[in-house]
Amino acid sequence: MKYILTLAALFVAASIAHAEIRYRVQPQPETNQLAITVTIPTNAPETLVQAPRWMPGFYMLLNYGARLKDFSATGVGDKPVELTAVDDHTWKINSAGAKQVTLRYRAPLEFQDGIGHYSGIAAYVYVVGRTQERCKLTIETPQDMKVAVGLDGSGPEYSADSYDTLADNPVTLGSYYEETYTVAGKPHVIALRGTGAGQIDKKLLREACETVAKIETEFMGGAPYGKYVWHFSVRSGGAGGSGLEHLSSTEISLGSGFSRRTAGLLAHEFFHLWNVKRIRSQVLGPFDYTQLPKTGALWWLEGTTDYFSTLLLGRFGWTSEQDLYADIATNVRNLRRSEARLTVSPYDSSYRVGETNNGRGNSNGFGLSYYDNGFVVGLCLDLEILAQTGGKRSLDDVEFALWKKCRNNQSGFAEDEIRKQLIHAGGESFGPLYDKLVLAAGELPVQQALAHVGLELTERGGIRSVGTPTPEQLRLRQLWLSKKRGRK
Ligand SMILES: [Zn+2]
Repeated sequence: MKYILTLAALFVAASIAHAEIRYRVQPQPETNQLAITVTIPTNAPETLVQAPRWMPGFYMLLNYGARLKDFSATGVGDKPVELTAVDDHTWKINSAGAKQVTLRYRAPLEFQDGIGHYSGIAAYVYVVGRTQERCKLTIETPQDMKVAVGLDGSGPEYSADSYDTLADNPVTLGSYYEETYTVAGKPHVIALRGTGAGQIDKKLLREACETVAKIETEFMGGAPYGKYVWHFSVRSGGAGGSGLEHLSSTEISLGSGFSRRTAGLLAHEFFHLWNVKRIRSQVLGPFDYTQLPKTGALWWLEGTTDYFSTLLLGRFGWTSEQDLYADIATNVRNLRRSEARLTVSPYDSSYRVGETNNGRGNSNGFGLSYYDNGFVVGLCLDLEILAQTGGKRSLDDVEFALWKKCRNNQSGFAEDEIRKQLIHAGGESFGPLYDKLVLAAGELPVQQALAHVGLELTERGGIRSVGTPTPEQLRLRQLWLSKKRGRK
C-alpha cells in the first residue's frame, strides 16, 4: 500500500516536468553488452526506476532486472548521487535537489558475426509513474553499422510517445542482410541474421512478407504504423519457427527451410498489429510491468488472430482451399486432444494464465491452449453469424467494430465488448451462444458450424465437402472464402 502511494506522488510530480526522458544506447560487441544511459528530468526528491517483470505478448514473469548490471547515477554537474537497489527490479535514485538525474547501467546484447539484436523490454528501465511520457532514443553505433528499428526517426535519434512504445521496438544492428519494400504507402524492412541467413530462400521470404502485409492492410483498411520491421533470426535447417509481435515490428525465429506454408507464422504475427497491439483488452496497454495482466480475451487475441490470419491467406489465394481445410482440421484435432477442453472454458484459459507455472504464467493458456480453443471458437462464431444472417454479416464485422473502438490510440476494450459486438453482428441469440462457447467449458460445435457451408469433419479428423451440398451451403461457402465478403 505504501508503494502505491509513492507511485501516485511521483506521477503528480511527473506531470509538471513535461520533458522527454532520454535513452542513449552504446553497443559493446566485444562484451555482448549495451551501455545504457537514461537522463531523467525531475523535480522530485527521489526517482524510482524499474525493469519490467514480463514482456507484452509473452505472459510469463521473467524478471529482466536480474540481467542488468553496473548501475550508477549522477545529478548536478555529473556528481554521483545515492542509488539504492530496492528489490531485484527496482532502484531508487536520490535526486539531491537536481533538476535531472542520469542513470547508467549495462544490459545484455546478442551479438554474433557482426550482427547484434536486443529487445527493448530486456534493455530499458522505466521511470515509475512516468511510462506515458515522451522518450527519445539515441543509438550510438560506428558509421558502418546499420540499425533496424520500428520507431519514428531515421537514426541515430528516434522518438517514442511513451515508454510502452519505446520498449515495444526491438533493435537489430550491424551487418545484417536487409531488404525493403513499400506496402500501403509505408516502408517495410526485412532484417535477417543468424547461422541460416545465407541458406534461406530470400525471394520466397520477401514474397511472403510483402503478400502478408498487402493482404492484411487491405483487409483492415490501411497500415496503422509509420514503418514496419521484420526482425528474423534464421537457424540452419528445419522449417518451423516462433514469433513475438510488437507495435510496428515482429521478432521471428525461423528454420532456413522456410516454405510457403510457414507464411502462416508471418501472417499471425502481422495480424497482431491489430489484434492485441491495438485491438486489445484494457489491461494490455498502458501496461503494468510489475504483474501479469488478467484478461479473459486471449482466446480472441491469440487464437482468433490465428483463425483470421490463416483464413485470410486462403481467402486471398496464398494457400489453396485444401491447404486451408487442412490447417483448420489441425487446429480442431489439437483442441480435441486436450481433455481439459471439457472442464476449462476459453475465457478461463485466458484469464487464469498467470496461475500456471507456480504463479509465473506461461504463453499458452491455463489448463489448455487459448491458441487452439480461440481458433475453433472463431471458426464456429464466423460460420454461425454467416448462417444466421444469410451471409450478410460475419466475424469480419466483429473485428471491424472492435477496430473502430480501439483505433487511433483509443483505450482498450472492456471484458464484455466481444460479446456485445457479436450480438450487434449476429443478433440477440449470440449473447447466449458466446456464454456457451466462451464462458463455459465443453465440446465446441464444429460439425454443426461446418455444415452451414457444406463441409464435415471426417473420422480421421480431416475436413471434406459433404456429398451433395445444397445451393445455400455452396453460396455461404463461397462467401466465407471470398476476399471481402460483401464489405462496402
Ligand atoms: Zn500470437
